[in-house]
Amino acid sequence: MSSINLAIVGVGKIVRDQHLPAVAANADYRLVAAASRNGKVDGIANFGTIEEMLEAVPEVEAVSLCMPPQYRYAAAVKALAAGKHVFLEKPPGATLSEVEDLAAQAKERGVSLFASWHSRHAPAVEAARAFLAGTTVRSMRVTWKEDVRHWHPGQAWIWEAGGLGVFDPGINALSIVTRILPRAVFATEATLEFPENRAAPIAAAIRFTDAEGLDLQAEFDWRQTGPQSWDIEAETDAGSMLLSHGGSRLAVNGEVVHAEPEQEYPELYRHFARLIRAGGSDVDLAPLRHVADAFMLGRRVVVEPFHD
Ligand code: NAP
Repeated sequence: MSSINLAIVGVGKIVRDQHLPAVAANADYRLVAAASRNGKVDGIANFGTIEEMLEAVPEVEAVSLCMPPQYRYAAAVKALAAGKHVFLEKPPGATLSEVEDLAAQAKERGVSLFASWHSRHAPAVEAARAFLAGTTVRSMRVTWKEDVRHWHPGQAWIWEAGGLGVFDPGINALSIVTRILPRAVFATEATLEFPENRAAPIAAAIRFTDAEGLDLQAEFDWRQTGPQSWDIEAETDAGSMLLSHGGSRLAVNGEVVHAEPEQEYPELYRHFARLIRAGGSDVDLAPLRHVADAFMLGRRVVVEPFHD
């Protein structure tokens, strides 16, 4: 099978940390070009904008869009209009409506659109889903607390409207929750803490339920120093479950039953290649919808200013 000519747009932290190594290790792809205002990828053609790249390198077949979410839609429209398959970093856009529009455009043009959720490919997520599928879930606690200064140094966009603030990591937890829970849930109340000098929240607490009255509480906080927490605990009629380390390790009734090194981005690129070859798309908006609901329903509390 011939390899897919891929281009990457928005060359920053996640491209260097994850996309380039995952693509280099996958024979399904040939990385042929990159577009970014400042960032460059060694050994391939680099351009300042996606328009210049699409014009100059027509053999590009697929494009990974890795810029901040507020700028993804405009780039995706150009790539889709040029007939390219599109991989959207998470979150897939700044609004639900714009991503739905992209899905319609991809369908019209007969190309693949992939709204990626890397945390869903953490190694123990499918084992957690399989465990919960056979149980009645009574309660769930999601604790996603990390140090924003460590993980997002100097990222101004993340604090702007549409940058999602603490929901940038929190949506990863929601992408796992919506994958492993056997039933759909919905938010019933939320509190969002906004630093007085920022347009996006630094912390959020959300309660969810479902038709059976599930008690699900999620806490996201960016002020955590010391040990970081990326945990999902559940109480079920078959005992307790702890999915920890961002979805890498599963313990059932206190015993570790699944723990493997993570392979999230290699898995994302394998999935994208399968979608392209099968002529399909994968656009699940559930995690983004829950974030939108939290913003819609949430009580806003102003807290002390945040300085990098
Ligand atoms: P980043 O390094 O701040 O941004 C990526 C690149 O996007 C920047 O280097 C910049 O490159 C370009 N960019 C920034 N502002 C732009 C604008 N106004 N218009 C067009 N391009 C702009 O961020 P990142 O950490 O890589 O995150 C990018 C995306 O990946 C986000 O959606 C994030 O949620 C997701 N992600 C990040 C991580 C992580 O650990 N950092 C993990 C998983 C997913 P140029 O200056 O060269 O244009």
